[in-house]
Amino acid sequence: MKLKTTALIILSLVLFLVQSTMAQPRAELKKVTESVYSYLAVPGGTPGNAFSANAGIIIGKDAVLIVDTLTSAGEAEAFMADIKKITNKPVRYVVNTHFHLDHALGNSYFADKGITIIGHAKCRDAIITNGSQFLETPDMFGLPADFWKETRTVSPDITFEREMLIDLGNLTVKLIHSGIKSHTAGSVIVHVPEQNVLFTGDILFTDFHPYLAEGDLPGWEKNLNFISALNVKNIIPGHGPLSTNKDIEAMKTYLTIFDKNAKELSAKEKDIEKLTSAMLKVLPKLSNGDFIVSMNLGGRYLIKSEK
Ligand SMILES: [Zn+2]
Repeated sequence: MKLKTTALIILSLVLFLVQSTMAQPRAELKKVTESVYSYLAVPGGTPGNAFSANAGIIIGKDAVLIVDTLTSAGEAEAFMADIKKITNKPVRYVVNTHFHLDHALGNSYFADKGITIIGHAKCRDAIITNGSQFLETPDMFGLPADFWKETRTVSPDITFEREMLIDLGNLTVKLIHSGIKSHTAGSVIVHVPEQNVLFTGDILFTDFHPYLAEGDLPGWEKNLNFISALNVKNIIPGHGPLSTNKDIEAMKTYLTIFDKNAKELSAKEKDIEKLTSAMLKVLPKLSNGDFIVSMNLGGRYLIKSEK
């Protein structure tokens, strides 16, 4: 992330976060299929609930694999305690769907337990490049000063480029990168074909305004088509409720509407608050993540005129 982009995103976040509170209900493990549980976040998208990021677990005969690690070592520890209530099988692997703070900053807790962390090579690069700047500025995200006291940034131990298979005993987990950029350059999906389950990370947001400031929009659409063609029944998005292919179509439509209107409106309106309210009038009405609209405008559309 470029520093100027980061500063704008942070500014937008602060505007939103001053209104938010820390006392939030926590995520819960919910059974999706026999071997897969989602850790579906509560709605709202505040720092107290890991910005509503979803995570999950896949339980094989021999081992457990965790998808995404939430925002801090403390949240990862609470997640692990919830996992232990469901299964006593050893947690062997963690997969990061991408590098963003609400999906990968719990890594250090699992690394300290000796658990192997896996991600795309570009996810590893991005954690190494961007990780420490998150940890140095908790106040910028509306978080208390000691929020990341126990947290270090830890990048994946093992990386891949296009595909990796992980055998959990009776169950094979496929990690896939389409070869095309989307939400981030290193965003991957986690497919469990035998259970008809897919974790999309932030390639899919459902009923939740997507964070798209760093995304590659044409590539993103191709990735959504790729996911849709897998024809998976149970899709766990990066943010929002359990989803289906219908939600993928809605996301494609959203990206098109956002880009077209943001380009047109930002050519005339440079005030971020006025631009955000104009955008919210033309975008599909969604239950969560209104604050992300201004992050996207500040981080992607208004920034161009400054170059
Ligand atoms: Zn993300």
